[in-house]
Amino acid sequence: MPRACAQAVDQEKGRTETEGQEATEGEGEAVSHHWYHTTRWRKRRARQLADHPLCAMCEKQGKVSAASIADHVEPHKGNAEKFWNGELQSLCPTCHSARKQMQEKHGYSAACGVDGLPLDPNHPFNKGRS
Ligand SMILES: [Zn+2]
Repeated sequence: MPRACAQAVDQEKGRTETEGQEATEGEGEAVSHHWYHTTRWRKRRARQLADHPLCAMCEKQGKVSAASIADHVEPHKGNAEKFWNGELQSLCPTCHSARKQMQEKHGYSAACGVDGLPLDPNHPFNKGRS
């Protein structure tokens, strides 16, 4: 009996691995870079910046900066659903590159707001809160 269970698990694993996107993270990135050149994305970005013309991270730190980048709050990592439907925030180039560097290293931004709490919803501190 335990043998049958183990086999079922193996089959389950095999199925998800072959059906899922087999693309490595690098390939996924390449595909998603293409999305930035579509009219659909340009419209989405323009709407985000029209609705929120100021940098969200500067704002939380009591600063006012014009935003020029529509940034995904949760990194999409080549995931179409997250890319097109994930929450966006407006960022200035300075905050965007700072956030990117932090995300590449740690998976989240360590930037803190005026209250001293991390701003990034992906920060472990915020993940535990509801
Ligand atoms: Zn900023």
